[in-house]
Amino acid sequence: MNYSINHKETEIFFTVELRNRRSTSIQVNRDRSVRVLAPKLSTKRAILQVVSEKADWILKKQGEFSQQPPAQAERRYLSGEKFGYLGRELELKLITGSAGVEIEGEKIVMTAPEYFSTEQRKKLFQNWYRKQSEEIFAERLDDCMKFVKTAGIRKKPEFSSRIMRRSWGSCTAKRQIHLNIELISAAVQCIDFVILHELCHLKEPNHSPRFYNLLEKVCPGWKTAKNELKKTGSMGIY
Ligand SMILES: [Zn+2]
Repeated sequence: MNYSINHKETEIFFTVELRNRRSTSIQVNRDRSVRVLAPKLSTKRAILQVVSEKADWILKKQGEFSQQPPAQAERRYLSGEKFGYLGRELELKLITGSAGVEIEGEKIVMTAPEYFSTEQRKKLFQNWYRKQSEEIFAERLDDCMKFVKTAGIRKKPEFSSRIMRRSWGSCTAKRQIHLNIELISAAVQCIDFVILHELCHLKEPNHSPRFYNLLEKVCPGWKTAKNELKKTGSMGIY
């Protein structure tokens, strides 16, 4: 279903999908389209109400996405391109040789055969970035487990590093944590914040006051980390 509302002289268009769920959620996509997932029995009025209440947030999100550079199309994986890595910006250095990637100081050195196409260099880079994220996240998760132990979260959940379009992390009903690969572009304290946030969901599934109390306890600097993370945009690698 397609609807729209008028908010501050802007028409917000959105699609509504009725689902087997308890609450209504709103997603703003990178192309600025808006998708609303609502419980099956929702009335149109109730949906419009929720969207109206979130209208400022939707416009803000749309604004953020319109400022983001259309990164992916421009990346060619050649020397001089910048990539985020643990809160730093590393410069890519491309040299000829058999395929491999490693960090040397402030540079990401990618070795690739001369005949490699942009697509092949991209694949090489993506695989490396994914592997790095898996290693780093595993290490951070181990460390974060120490902080949540006192809060009664003792069993380390399974985690996976994956391509995520709308969030930095999520926690499933099956108690698995998914982390956005591109989160490795963020500083360690931001990565920890996302992990700790998801770990708290193992105990408190919703963003209730209880959830925030718990988060505050295990990650006292979370507000700073959250703000810092806002400055981290997508790297446009995937
Ligand atoms: Zn959450």
